[in-house]
Amino acid sequence: MKVTKFGGSSLADATQIKKVCDILLSDEERRVIVVSAPGKRFSSDIKVTDLLIALANAKISGQSGEKELEAVFDRFASICAELDIPECMESIKANITESVSKPITDAGRYMDATKALGEDSCARLVATYLNKTGHKATYCNPKVAGLYLETELGGHVKVLPESYDNLSDLTNLREICVFPGFYGYSKDGEIITFSRGGSDITGAILAAAVHATVYENWTDVDNVYAVNPNLVQNPFPVTEITYDEMRELAYAGFSVLHEEALYPAFVRGIPVNIRNTNNPSSKGTMIVSKRTHYDSLVTGIAGEKGFCALNMSKYLMNREVGFVVKILSILADEGLSIEHMPSGIDSVSIILRSADFTPEKERRVIERISLELNVDSVSVNRDLAIVMIVGEAMANTVGTTARAATALSKAGINLELINQGASEISVMFGVREEYCAYAVRTLYKEFFS
Ligand code: ASP
Repeated sequence: MKVTKFGGSSLADATQIKKVCDILLSDEERRVIVVSAPGKRFSSDIKVTDLLIALANAKISGQSGEKELEAVFDRFASICAELDIPECMESIKANITESVSKPITDAGRYMDATKALGEDSCARLVATYLNKTGHKATYCNPKVAGLYLETELGGHVKVLPESYDNLSDLTNLREICVFPGFYGYSKDGEIITFSRGGSDITGAILAAAVHATVYENWTDVDNVYAVNPNLVQNPFPVTEITYDEMRELAYAGFSVLHEEALYPAFVRGIPVNIRNTNNPSSKGTMIVSKRTHYDSLVTGIAGEKGFCALNMSKYLMNREVGFVVKILSILADEGLSIEHMPSGIDSVSIILRSADFTPEKERRVIERISLELNVDSVSVNRDLAIVMIVGEAMANTVGTTARAATALSKAGINLELINQGASEISVMFGVREEYCAYAVRTLYKEFFS
């Protein structure tokens, strides 16, 4: 059994939905389909999820929201008209109207319930169209199927473990199951949505629950590329990549799937196949636990801005037991999570996300470090970017870091820091933010041209 998830651009209009159904029906192992809400049809278009957010905001702030509601209806009405399923539009309209007319007792819950209507309506629509064209399909409601979620402190949404057992029953369905992505239910029956792009997570959960042979994630590009195509023309396509490599690259801003979507697939070792709805003949990119081949020494290169370094030095730091523990506990008191920690004999740098390390936190942290740790110096270096080269083949190859560092130095880019993890599958360089794109291009040229 394959689980196939289609993103918003694959469901943006009737033509796209027909393509989705053709892909689905061309392989009888594709038994579970997870859908996003209709996305953009052209670059200045608005995604249905954004229309729904505007609607919820209007209602929450006491406005009628009529204009916003019409915009949502218009999108679904044009799809239903073109697919010739007018009765489906009637039920979508009734369902959305009922949901948004409920009294607002909790703005967060109201927002979640409204946001989920994009995926929910889309799943009903696809199931109706499949049936109309003679293929047995059922809309699967996440509550009925038992997809339970919980919002943790801090707002992160996690799936409750029992959901996997509940959802494994989908294997017994004789019809194609059309499942809305992006949301599930709390134990007390309220809708909870994942963060944006979260239908990827629903697909991965379902793939893990039914022990799918593959989790197909259909989008609008042929492959994952070795570098962001906005930075380099015609970049090298990646045919195979491991979960670990993908995770490292995602960390440095390589966005293909939702960051959390790989985990359920990774735990059960289910390969993820990124495919293109607009070009189904391309085999796409396989994300696997173990590689079958290497196309290149480096698998991917990525860079992300928005980091800063907290630098400390103290003579004989290496002899002082518990020094780092004390720093970490000061940072933990401020709720700061640490990204990296390159260190020397008498110095240590802690890399943080700039947005988390606010000026107030910086002031308190510096004050405590100076007072409690008696350091010789402490300073903060802001506006850093992290640039990473990632590849499992690098682990057994001598000189990759040297090649990368030489290329960067020849390009006149100063390295603020270097870090290589023990797994040797990635090397991270810290550069000034203004050099981020240039550094990525320089490294791409070194390893791929
Ligand atoms: N429709 C939601 C969004 O736009 C979720 C998704 O597409 O994955 O973020």
